[in-house]
Amino acid sequence: MHILLVEDEPAIADIVLHALRAEGFEASHCLTGRDALALARSQAFDLAVLDVGLPDIGGFALCRELRRGRDLPVIFLTAHNAEAERILGLEIGGDDYVTKPFSPRELVARVRVVLRRLHHEAPAAASGFAHDVEGKRITFRRQLLDLTRYEYGLLAALLQRPGAVLSRVQLMDRVWGNALDSGDRTVDTHIKTLRAKLREVAPDLDPIRTHRGLGYSLEMDPREADPRGATRE
Ligand code: CA
Repeated sequence: MHILLVEDEPAIADIVLHALRAEGFEASHCLTGRDALALARSQAFDLAVLDVGLPDIGGFALCRELRRGRDLPVIFLTAHNAEAERILGLEIGGDDYVTKPFSPRELVARVRVVLRRLHHEAPAAASGFAHDVEGKRITFRRQLLDLTRYEYGLLAALLQRPGAVLSRVQLMDRVWGNALDSGDRTVDTHIKTLRAKLREVAPDLDPIRTHRGLGYSLEMDPREADPRGATRE
C-alpha cells in the first residue's frame, strides 16, 4: 500500500512518514499541491493524506485534482478548531479527517480503517450488531431492536460504513430522501431515541459517536478495526 502525504510542515511530515513506514506502508511526501500533482501523474497511490492548509492550491482543490479520472481515498489533516474545514472536507467526499495536533498512531489507524473499508479486506464490523437487510431488521447483542422507520434508516446507514463519519445532511439525504424537507434537529432527535433503545440493550455501551458539528459515526469493534492491535496501547 502506497500512501501519498502532502504536508507543508516538514516536522509534521517526518513524524507521519515515520509512523506510516513503521506500520509497513510505503509513503511518499510532497510539500506542495503542485509537487503532489506532478508525482501523482507518474505514480499510483492507494490513499492520500492531505493537509487542508497548503501554501499553493490547498487540500480540497488538490483532492479534486488528484481524483480526476480515478478513485483515491483521502484523509484530510485539518486545523484545530476549524470545524468548517472538517464539514467541507466530508462534504466534498473526504473519507475521513484528523484534527491537528494528532497522534501519528491515530492517523495510521484511520488510514488502515479507510483502506479496509474500501478494499473490503474484511467486512467492517460494528460491535454486537447484525443487520438483516432484506428483512429490514437489526439485532444488537442478539436482541431484535424495535425501531421506527427513521431510527432503522439511520442505524442502517451508519452500519453500512462503520467508523465513517456521516454528516447530518448525508444522513437526511439517505433516510428522509431530501435534506431540505427536514429541520436541522431531525437527525439529532432520532439519534437520541435510537441511542436510548441501544442503551436498553447495553447500558454499558454507547456505540454511536457524536462528532461535534460534523455528524455521527458508529464505533467499530476495536479488534476489527485493527486486528494487529496497533491502535491499542
Ligand atoms: Ca499546513
